[in-house]
Amino acid sequence: MSHTLLSLVVPFYNEQESIGSFFPRVAAVLEQLEGVDFEIVCVNDGSRDGTYPALIAAARADSRIRVIDLTRNFGKEAALTAGLDEARGDIVIPFDADLQDPPEVIPQLIAKWREGFDVVMARRVDRMSDTLMKRMSALLFYRVHNKLADVKIPENVGDFRLMSRDVIDALRLLPESRRFMKGLFAWVGYRHSTIEYTREARSAGQTSFSAWKLWNFALEGLTSFSTAPLRIWFYLGSTIALLSFGFACEIIIKTLIKGVAVPGYASLLVSILFMGGVQLIGIGIIGEYVGRIYTESKRRPVYLIRSRFQSEATTASPAHE
Ligand code: UDP
Ligand code: MG
Repeated sequence: MSHTLLSLVVPFYNEQESIGSFFPRVAAVLEQLEGVDFEIVCVNDGSRDGTYPALIAAARADSRIRVIDLTRNFGKEAALTAGLDEARGDIVIPFDADLQDPPEVIPQLIAKWREGFDVVMARRVDRMSDTLMKRMSALLFYRVHNKLADVKIPENVGDFRLMSRDVIDALRLLPESRRFMKGLFAWVGYRHSTIEYTREARSAGQTSFSAWKLWNFALEGLTSFSTAPLRIWFYLGSTIALLSFGFACEIIIKTLIKGVAVPGYASLLVSILFMGGVQLIGIGIIGEYVGRIYTESKRRPVYLIRSRFQSEATTASPAHE
């Protein structure tokens, strides 16, 4: 039987406390897999603590560990993109460095994949390890997003999932530079299945996602998969224009019946309100196009790689798409 190569893609940002327990626990699970070879693609996302030296030390000891060092902190989505681009596996699993997603679930993902699915998602049945705030905001986010966006993202499914080579290649075809991975994963489609698991508490260290970062992340998701936030202005503008038209009629009728109260006042107010409404419609529509053109026309790379490291050979390249 030919061996399948599994790539575990792990972004690391200031995770020096997690690294000690990470590799032994993950390797223990992966070594048990039958007919599967593995590589662990570690992306150092501009960590400012001892993460990088610790990763290099781990990679020196084990040639199945690869280290991709980014030039600065590009954020989790970009780090994940880098890892997926670098992964060589027939199947790829994005994985968090803090072991919140238990590696013990991986055999189940692979079993499902062997049944013939291209994507096997892992849904959290129990989010008790997250704070109440986070659970509530996550729920709200999924509800709002799936109402507004064309591509629905499944509730309580994170980046932790198995994807086949076809899916990874499809993801690499998507040219956008602002990458909301959960949305992109959903966009590519393919035959998918879901298993359930319980999300654990962080093994060590602290989450790098503050409430503000999560809020912006939610906005990013909404704006990359829906134009509803921009379209709202069109409706608001129309409403104002309509109201001011009604107001104009009211003034005309009142004037006809009672005569002029203060000359000039009515026509001024009506025209100001009406023009304001019309202008909002225009700005809203233009904004929709400008916003999209602006972000995508810059065509900046999603991330830059400073160096790559794997036991036998070290390669370095200045830039990567
Ligand atoms: N991460 C990253 N870059 C960042 C922030 C986070 O690569 O700018 C990594 C982090 O090291 C971890 C994963 O993304 O492996 C998830 O981060 P975290 O556990 O802080 O998020 P949470 O689980 O709270 O959503
Ligand atoms: Mg975490």
